[in-house]
Amino acid sequence: MSAQVLDGKILAAKIKDSLRSEVEKLKKEFNKVPTMVNIVIGDDHGTCAYAKSQEKVAEYIGINYELKTVTEDVGQEQLEALVRDLNSDADVNGILIHKPVPEHIDYGSVANHIDIIKDLEGINIANIGKMVLGETKIVPCTPASIMEHIKSTGVNMRGKEAVIVGSSSIVGKPLCLLLLREFATVTVCHIGTSEAGKLEEHVKNADILIVAVGIASLIKGDLIKEGAIVIDVGINRSDNGIVGDVEYAVAKEKASYITPVPGGVGPVTVVMLMKNAIEAFKAQL
Ligand code: NAD
Repeated sequence: MSAQVLDGKILAAKIKDSLRSEVEKLKKEFNKVPTMVNIVIGDDHGTCAYAKSQEKVAEYIGINYELKTVTEDVGQEQLEALVRDLNSDADVNGILIHKPVPEHIDYGSVANHIDIIKDLEGINIANIGKMVLGETKIVPCTPASIMEHIKSTGVNMRGKEAVIVGSSSIVGKPLCLLLLREFATVTVCHIGTSEAGKLEEHVKNADILIVAVGIASLIKGDLIKEGAIVIDVGINRSDNGIVGDVEYAVAKEKASYITPVPGGVGPVTVVMLMKNAIEAFKAQL
């Protein structure tokens, strides 16, 4: 059996079109569209390229996208004051802070200054708490993208063995909560699981496997359970270009669905940011 490839570009295009119609409707009804502001620190080329790609998607959907660039030597107080200004600006519906931030900046503290209703990445500690309780529609973008991919297969997650490899605060932990909402049985593996020599047994058991570690070919293809859904979040530079954390060619022969790297989770992630911008806007109407 060869897996069906979950093409992130196709899924992203579909979601973008539906968000575009939603913004058109909102515009007709309320005579305004969402406005989001991305705070960028410094002028790193990679950061600028990423912001450009966000801007393109926002433009397509009909969202106003603004960049607020501050210099690399910006102070903590100054940055938090900027966030407070944006919080009190009624024309701004959503705020995000581009990562990485310089070492002297306490990212968590800046995140906690964002008004929870404008927190587009769901990084404010109050929004994280609300997510645990299932009380917010603003969900961190990468886990949201992963869920869209799984939902696009049409497979019911209820009672399935979902195994997440990688327990970071931006991917594994929030994803665990989203899978629980669907009544999957969730196992979260991490470096400790590998050190204990238990990673393979968990991976072999997965009906739905999500890998977000950042080590090329960490998951050997022959470990994949026959018919599993495999979502590869990893991004690794190699001699063959960008590759994921799963040994793709072998895994593809065993899985029922698999995301490619690149072109899987990534393209949908940016669209989820726009979805959050629309949710934030609606909450402020
Ligand atoms: P992180 O470094 O914050 O966390 C890595 C996790 O992997 C940790 O939980 C760690 O315990 C675990 N880990 C490390 N070595 C392991 C091993 N040998 N066995 C099992 N677990 C191990 O990483 P992150 O920020 O969550 O990112 C993970 C990967 O996902 C990276 O490659 C990153 O580039 C990629 N990523 C992609 C997107 C996207 O939209 N496509 C978004 C975010 C992250």
